[in-house]
Amino acid sequence: FDASRPVPDLRTPLPGPAGRAAVALDASVTSPSLPRAYPMTPVRGYGSAIEDLDGNLFLDFNAGIAVNSTGHAHPTVVAAVREQAENLLHYSASDFFLPIYAEYCRALTATAPMGVPTRAFLTNSGAEAVEGALKLVRFATGRPYAISFFGAFHGRSFGAMTLTASKAKYHSGFGPLLPGILHAPYAPASPSYLEDVLFRFQVDPREVAAVFVEPIQGEGGYIVPPPGWMARLREICDRHGIMLVADEVQSGMGRTGKMWAIEHTGVRPDVLITAKGIASGLPLGAFVARADLMESWPMGAHGSTYGGSPVPCAAGLATLRVIAEENLMANATAQGDFLLTGLRELAEREPGTVRDVRGVGLMIGVEFADGRVAGLVQQACFQRGLLVLEAGENVVRMSPPLTLTRQDAATGLRLFGEAVSEVAADLRMSRDL
Ligand code: PMP
Repeated sequence: FDASRPVPDLRTPLPGPAGRAAVALDASVTSPSLPRAYPMTPVRGYGSAIEDLDGNLFLDFNAGIAVNSTGHAHPTVVAAVREQAENLLHYSASDFFLPIYAEYCRALTATAPMGVPTRAFLTNSGAEAVEGALKLVRFATGRPYAISFFGAFHGRSFGAMTLTASKAKYHSGFGPLLPGILHAPYAPASPSYLEDVLFRFQVDPREVAAVFVEPIQGEGGYIVPPPGWMARLREICDRHGIMLVADEVQSGMGRTGKMWAIEHTGVRPDVLITAKGIASGLPLGAFVARADLMESWPMGAHGSTYGGSPVPCAAGLATLRVIAEENLMANATAQGDFLLTGLRELAEREPGTVRDVRGVGLMIGVEFADGRVAGLVQQACFQRGLLVLEAGENVVRMSPPLTLTRQDAATGLRLFGEAVSEVAADLRMSRDL
């Protein structure tokens, strides 16, 4: 993209071993289970910009899949990481009391949307946080079953993978999966499916520990439930003593203009899962639960060698500080509204191509008339220097850093519009031939 404005940290030549290019492009040494959206080879980032191996600059509307919340290499985060690394790189919170672990848990629980006291457990990733939450709700309720939604993505480890129900490839060949997990249709379908179908024919609700739900479905295609949907789900859970677990790994940490996406619904979950954006790129996840639930399991029932290690905790604390000091939630709302308005205008210009534009804050999905278009638009954006990613069926998602400037939002909108128009024109031409 056109980096006409100064981007100082990207101007100096990259240090690093000669031959890095050859190694980086040698895919034969990495697992073929890792697909590549497009041949982008990031080596350095600054703000909303990414520089590749050849020195090309890209405008990053992926942010490492909703991870680089404060932008790439935010000076406050980098300084906090450097300082912590110099003091204490690692000690295991599993067996020892780490002050910085407790400090981060205090800061994180202060943001929790439960309305009652909560406690936190820190992990290295989203999937681990989902596993921990699943263990906790089974333990605390003494109930074996859990319910999640079709289209959901919760991670790749066995519990999280079984809760996941988006693409067949996430399950096939890996069975048997974890027993005791059932799925229901996600919004806009009514949550009454749980009582009308699942509790009538498949499981006694007194056997169900929890419902796991993404307040906005992420990998499933950035699907926003209609107003009242989450409240109805909460009512059903309350009627049967079932825990409501909000998976905010993708939607949380200010991305939607509030700290947690579930806050837009007024619903209070019993457990909240988070990861991705909470430490601006360092591996940190967490599940935060009502204190009475968390206090039900005994010391040593769950643990992790690395989870909540000091350097990720320092990055987590710095991330919370930057979000507050730089008003990043208000910025997410402002830039998100700007992008949504521009994308809706684009949809009107290309009615046969763009089917839907949706999202909240800087979690935005553009649905196309067919999946081929989403893939082609992703490629056309890449060729113009804009990084976006497909999600769900026929959807391109945008999850830029929360620090996105208006200028970069406008540039991204322009490049995206050009990409969509080019793909639409190509397809019209191929149909006419
Ligand atoms: N839950 C949700 C909602 C996610 O989007 C993801 C990752 N895409 C995960 C869980 C798993 O997180 P991780 O990749 O860190 O294991």
